[in-house]
Amino acid sequence: MKPYLREQVPKNLSDIPEATSYEAGYLVTKNAGWRNIRPVIKEDKCVGCLMCYLYCPDGVIYKSNEKVSIDYDFCKGCGICKKTCKFGAIEMEAEE
Ligand code: SF4
Ligand code: SF4
Repeated sequence: MKPYLREQVPKNLSDIPEATSYEAGYLVTKNAGWRNIRPVIKEDKCVGCLMCYLYCPDGVIYKSNEKVSIDYDFCKGCGICKKTCKFGAIEMEAEE
């Protein structure tokens, strides 16, 4: 399975697919076992701009009710999404 955005560059936000780039069982396996911090979306601050979706290197952020959610099975905790969010809507929190 190839990442969607490499094949078709969307012109509008509505062209961006709802789902994440990968599904377990194809060429990837769940990789979050070693993560020690995780990004958490603060819904009250999120405006649904999708910048985090576009910059997540693993394609694990997906659209959810005009905002975004994270597939924690595949998120590696790199924090790039937090860096790209201009609205302070992503906090990195320690894994329990
Ligand atoms: S970059 Fe921030 S404001 Fe934009 S969708 Fe992601 S969490 Fe929401
Ligand atoms: S921490 Fe990294 S892998 Fe996880 S959602 Fe953010 S950008 Fe993607």
